[in-house]
Amino acid sequence: MSIFSTETLKNMDAYVPGEQPQDKSYIKLNTNEFPFPPSEKVKAVVNSEKAEDLRLYSDPTCRILKEAITEVYDFKTENVFCGNGSDEVLALSFLAFCKKEDTVVFPDISYGFYPVFASFFGLKYNEIPLKEDFSIDTGDYLSDCGTVYIANPNAPTGLTLSEQEIEKILIANPNHVVVIDEAYCDFSDCSSMGLIGKYKNLLIVRTFSKSYALAGARIGFALGDRELIADLEKAKFSFNPYNLNRLSIEIGAAAIKDREYFEKTVSLIKENRKKLTDDLRQLGFTVLNSGANFVFAKKDGVDGEQLYLKLKENGILVRHFSKERIKDYLRITVGTKEQNAALIDTLGRNLK
Ligand SMILES: *Cc1c(COP(=O)(O)O)cnc(C)c1O
Repeated sequence: MSIFSTETLKNMDAYVPGEQPQDKSYIKLNTNEFPFPPSEKVKAVVNSEKAEDLRLYSDPTCRILKEAITEVYDFKTENVFCGNGSDEVLALSFLAFCKKEDTVVFPDISYGFYPVFASFFGLKYNEIPLKEDFSIDTGDYLSDCGTVYIANPNAPTGLTLSEQEIEKILIANPNHVVVIDEAYCDFSDCSSMGLIGKYKNLLIVRTFSKSYALAGARIGFALGDRELIADLEKAKFSFNPYNLNRLSIEIGAAAIKDREYFEKTVSLIKENRKKLTDDLRQLGFTVLNSGANFVFAKKDGVDGEQLYLKLKENGILVRHFSKERIKDYLRITVGTKEQNAALIDTLGRNLK
């Protein structure tokens, strides 16, 4: 801290992202990136003369991206908000919807950014323990005491909640927004999009980082009632109107329109997830049933951190969390067949 730092800054705990090593090349299964390249349509945008247009500011309304999103999901553009990655969408939602007098609620084991945003905006929060089996007890979210954040599928467990369970939470929280973070939803069938017309307090947050292979392009969006979206737009126009750069707007539109490539690659990930889960269980691991592009696994009698380090020594990066409840688990991104096979092979050799 410098002599200039504010109290707010001093009191903040910054988010610690998964390692992005720049020194040597690893089999990278630690930050849930897509192992396949983005659609060819994306490459066509990047390699085009559009680069020349970078001298101009981007469209602050992100019109063509919103239109592409509404073509795929049957909404109006007034129901769509675009952000610089879903992290930015989430941050703006904290600013727009979490009131000082309320308590933000989310599970104790979930996306690590929720408590960071709460502290960034000086908000009280309540981390509600997941059940023993790591599932969410929706009964814990019915008090209407503040904005609710639920990742569905949850991270890092990969477990999903049904639409009926989400609906119970929406009904019980009429005075607060319920944010469903669907970063991994394309890898399962658990979307709550069907509830948007019905509940004005539902905000769904999505990203191009995982299922569209565009983590580096920083594109996220939210879907919800037009009034919620208008609030997010107001927050954005008070912060960073040109939040998406010109190329990312074009890239996102091109990627989401290429349904064929999307379906093909996402279903490959689901296949690979099944095989990876089976293979890990074969090696004696406990593996939660994942609806995401990662699996959450542990082996009895094996220290999670030691195993993470062993894999790293062998050129394979996975994610380890030091939180007591999950310290023996590893979160492993589903990679290509070859990457997953290399992981299984390394585990097989090192667990003897
Ligand atoms: C990866 C992830 C995000 C952030 O995605 P970006 O769009 O890359 O900012 C948000 N929520 C969850 C649960 C995630 O896993």
